[in-house]
Amino acid sequence: MNLAADDAILTADAIGKTFGRGTRANVAVQPTNVSFRRGRSIGIAGESGSGKSTLLRLLLGLEAPTAGAVRFEGMPIASLTRAEHRRYRATVQAVFQDPGGSLDPRLHIWQLITEPAWATGGLTRRSRRELAARLLHEVDLPERFADRLPHQLSGGERQRVAIARAVSSSPQLVLLDEPVTSLDVSVRGAIINLLADRGAELTYAVVSHDLTVIAHLTDELLIMYQGFVVERGPTDAILDAPRHPYSQALVAAVHDPLHDTGYDSDVPAGAGACPFINRCPFAMEQCVVMPDPVGQIHQVRCHLYSPDDGEDTTRGAPPLGSSDPIASTVNVTGAHQ
Ligand code: SF4
Repeated sequence: MNLAADDAILTADAIGKTFGRGTRANVAVQPTNVSFRRGRSIGIAGESGSGKSTLLRLLLGLEAPTAGAVRFEGMPIASLTRAEHRRYRATVQAVFQDPGGSLDPRLHIWQLITEPAWATGGLTRRSRRELAARLLHEVDLPERFADRLPHQLSGGERQRVAIARAVSSSPQLVLLDEPVTSLDVSVRGAIINLLADRGAELTYAVVSHDLTVIAHLTDELLIMYQGFVVERGPTDAILDAPRHPYSQALVAAVHDPLHDTGYDSDVPAGAGACPFINRCPFAMEQCVVMPDPVGQIHQVRCHLYSPDDGEDTTRGAPPLGSSDPIASTVNVTGAHQ
């Protein structure tokens, strides 16, 4: 994908992360480019250990990359001045998987909700209370919650508070880390709807192993496996017709949670091989060398595809049996907990 850098909110230029050194080096994220533009929300999917959460932490500046740089308004976030860093914090907000862990238990809800806006300066106590009341209303919580502490709220209510807090500074980009994973199934749909309703004014980066969440909130999708982006492109295109065998397994698992992705290949793996080689039913001799990405709008990194294939050509890997859009498998209701 070639994304214009001029309207980018946040850009990752070949960022990578390796933990440890020498023979103990563990490459969590291979050098990756991704650019977040207004109005184009991006999902990052993969199983545990895929590197998606490390990539999110790199984007938030919570981890320092060992390769490349994350840029805000063209400047590496590691070298922002104090004033630029305040603007970055107001522009780029995050909602984490565990709302309980991300909310200071000693602060009242009105303080928590308005803290990011207050940090940008210019808010009196009275205007903070007014802002808190408005934001509570926007996330469908009663105004009386303003004077409660986080432990007095349910998990779903705390995640609504986390969302209100994230939007209080009028950010442009909100990074969502498994935003409904820790919630009861009964409240997940309401939270997804709440986020989707705000999607017109916000751009999201959604990290999740749950493709149903990504289907509802994003326009573009990166599929990661063992630190590599193995497929990327329009979310609908990938979910309707995934090309990489790993993407196909992920999508199949949505339709059939018991789908087994544990195929054992007898092609020997080694340094530099495709990381999916031991689980891939299509593994072949040339897979001992990691392929380059092919495609423009819809890219895939797999030897089953060649640069001569058209965007819609699938060679080698059979299409999935079901063509049902993933979004239709999610029961997203407006019910609030
Ligand atoms: Fe399978 Fe080879 Fe493609 Fe890797 S490169 S996903 S092993 S076919």
